[in-house]
Amino acid sequence: MTAPLLALDVVTIFPEYLAPLSQSLVGKAIERGIIAARVHDLRAWTDDIHRTVDDSPYGGGPGMVMRAEPWARALDGLAPPEGPQPCLVIPSPAGRPLTQALAAELAARPWLLFACGRYEGIDARVIDYAAARMEVVEISLGDYVLCGGEVAVLVIVEALARLLPGVLGNSESAANDSFADGADGLLEAPAYTRPATWRGLDVPAVLLSGDHGAIERWRKEQSTARTRAIRPDLLDS
Ligand code: SAM
Repeated sequence: MTAPLLALDVVTIFPEYLAPLSQSLVGKAIERGIIAARVHDLRAWTDDIHRTVDDSPYGGGPGMVMRAEPWARALDGLAPPEGPQPCLVIPSPAGRPLTQALAAELAARPWLLFACGRYEGIDARVIDYAAARMEVVEISLGDYVLCGGEVAVLVIVEALARLLPGVLGNSESAANDSFADGADGLLEAPAYTRPATWRGLDVPAVLLSGDHGAIERWRKEQSTARTRAIRPDLLDS
């Protein structure tokens, strides 16, 4: 088996939350050795009897903050300072919004280490500590607040995995997906399958015409109209 295209390490206090990594296309990519994935329990890097990972916030306020020391030990254990360094990905509402372009950027890295925050997040000094020797990217799924970074990691991994060569079958090229370069960054046109008439609703006639040029033009029009109606910001950019 050849070396994986992408190595993933995920550090979390809920390792079982990452079980879906073994499913579907990502699971197959792992099985086939395209992706190497390891999930780690942050509590393995604690040394008190209660395996404590959080403490109250300086300055007061509600909630708890994840302590820096277990995170530093996890980073040092998985990526010793003198060795090769991963790109550290920290899901955070304060991160760069996840886009197809950012997923493609991450898919080009050989090694991603994900740090799943919980509570009010991770002591901010962990970012400074890591950034002294590795690339750090904070990524937001959107303008809402999740309970933890695990779901965000699953989303990010799924978005980037399908961009890796060999993960999608030939018939499932990502090049024409919504937001892709091949789709000019627009939303994809609607899709239909058999039967041609279903419960009184017809498939657009052009898709049955066999005229590939006309189909291409129709898809482009649909794609532009859909984007204008739903996501005009994509046309602006
Ligand atoms: N107090 C933080 C704030 O208001 O920005 C929210 C902390 S949230 C309850 C706990 C963790 O969930 C975060 O550290 C982050 O890992 C994850 N998280 C929450 N919302 C997210 C989002 N929109 N995108 C990515 N990760 C998110």
